Amino acid sequence: MNKSLSVIVPCFNEEEVITESYKRIKSILNQFDFRTEIIFINDGSTDKTQEILYNILESDNSVKLITFSRNFGHQKAVTAGINHCTSDLAIIIDADLQDPPELIPEMIRTMETSHAQVVYCVRKSRKGEGFFKKITAKLFYRFLNFLSEVRLPVDTGDFRLIDKSIIREFNNLHEKGKYIRGLISWVGFKQVPFYYEREARFAGETKYPFMKMLRFATTSMLYFSTKPLRIATTLGFTSVLVALALAIWSILGKIIGFTHADSGWTSLFVLIIFFGGVQLLTIGIVGSYIGNLFDEIKNRPEYIILKKENFESNIEDEKNKSR
Ligand code: UDP
Ligand code: MG
Repeated sequence: MNKSLSVIVPCFNEEEVITESYKRIKSILNQFDFRTEIIFINDGSTDKTQEILYNILESDNSVKLITFSRNFGHQKAVTAGINHCTSDLAIIIDADLQDPPELIPEMIRTMETSHAQVVYCVRKSRKGEGFFKKITAKLFYRFLNFLSEVRLPVDTGDFRLIDKSIIREFNNLHEKGKYIRGLISWVGFKQVPFYYEREARFAGETKYPFMKMLRFATTSMLYFSTKPLRIATTLGFTSVLVALALAIWSILGKIIGFTHADSGWTSLFVLIIFFGGVQLLTIGIVGSYIGNLFDEIKNRPEYIILKKENFESNIEDEKNKSR
């Protein structure tokens, strides 16, 4: 089988690690007898990353480089890498060697033996990361999975192997806020886990300060769930029901005399809870429309076909061929 592999490496101010990552990735790629390449994306680094990458490029013409005009963020860098990938297989890997490149051959074997389109790496443990990062990451992935309409595997990063059907479908997604690991799950096909120990960063510091982490978490939740919007509807509906029940209770109480409210209290009380409920319900309804609008704007395909049988003229296949 004629295979080819691209290794996609996003880099932001990685002068301390980039030479070592290149060496380690390259020595793995040298073992393969098919075409391989490394695509580095320099995401607006302000240190010597670009210079080092130019040196690597000079000595190795299987290395490609995409340089951003400024720092657009990790997810945009990986997106650019996938958009520019023409191989049959792609590995997404961090530059800091937290994801060991030595696992690549085994990941490819796993893909072959399980006939999968995605091999996603699940972190059994995370070395060299603080308590805060570990606990927030653990909670975050579980909460996100609860919110999300598609099942998102927990404790996974973007470190994964994807094949060309995934690359093709990913490149068909046009939403601007991309939560890549979520979108790859969303695309479907056969996806299998691969367990590994996440290493400590080889050198340098994390490029994900708290604010960036927060933005990343917000994007993933907003783009993968409209549940928060719909919660208002449920709350509003419940409040209106409770208001009606309380209204009946307090009016009857007033007439029969089992409540001893001051005059005016009953009507005020009933009106307040009723209109509170009505407002929440209305916000919820508006929210549902906004949720649907958001889904429409994201313009994800409505479905992805794995295969079709017994069709004479296969329009989808023609389209795929020309892509
Ligand atoms: N990265 C990037 N742009 C950014 C932040 C990070 O391209 O704005 C890259 C970074 O160089 C690394 C990967 O994304 O290759 C993961 O970042 P990092 O290791 O700092 O994150 P952490 O592992 O601490 O979550
Ligand atoms: Mg890292």
